[in-house]
Amino acid sequence: MAYLKHNYTEKVIKLAVENSTPGKVMHTLVEHDEWCAIWHGGYCNCDPVVKILPLAEILPLLKKQQ
Ligand SMILES: [Zn+2]
Repeated sequence: MAYLKHNYTEKVIKLAVENSTPGKVMHTLVEHDEWCAIWHGGYCNCDPVVKILPLAEILPLLKKQQ
């Protein structure tokens, strides 16, 4: 279970447990520090900010990364 090695996993699961609605998809945004190992193929080792956002707000952010 390598995904448990990422610092953000526990935060995402906590948000899901506290805010999810059965039958609905929840979109999350994870913001990592610049020095986080995830940017170099490693496991997230920062203290990321994890937010629930509507898909309409996430899509423009993804387009900026391309
Ligand atoms: Zn990180």
